[in-house]
Amino acid sequence: MAKTLALVAHDRMKDALADWAAENEAGLAPHVLFCTGTTGKVVGERCPTLRITRLASGPLGGDQQIGALIVERRIDGVIFFIDPLSPMPHDVDIKALLRLAVVYDVPIALSRSTADLFVAAGLLAG
Ligand code: PGA
Repeated sequence: MAKTLALVAHDRMKDALADWAAENEAGLAPHVLFCTGTTGKVVGERCPTLRITRLASGPLGGDQQIGALIVERRIDGVIFFIDPLSPMPHDVDIKALLRLAVVYDVPIALSRSTADLFVAAGLLAG
């Protein structure tokens, strides 16, 4: 059954997420994907077979939109390649998204190795 996943990457991590998505494109293709605005553009250009719904850019509320989808129980997993070395203007929004993922016990991968664990655990399996 198709799952609904959120994919987000901070600016310095977008190439890494696009690389990861390209490596897992066949596994991601059956699923419904929500991305923040710029992430969706980058991943979509790299992986044209993916069904991506682009939300607002993160600093303009995209992280909050994903948080709202989590509250509505419409998200089965979040892959969020965060940049741990840069200050973010929307830090509070990011924290809110992370917090809601924990509140609703939605699996969330914050790095490439944990995203790989998602795959190994069968999250992308039908
Ligand atoms: P972006 O937002 O995909 O629009 O860059 C991500 C973020 O910064 O949270």
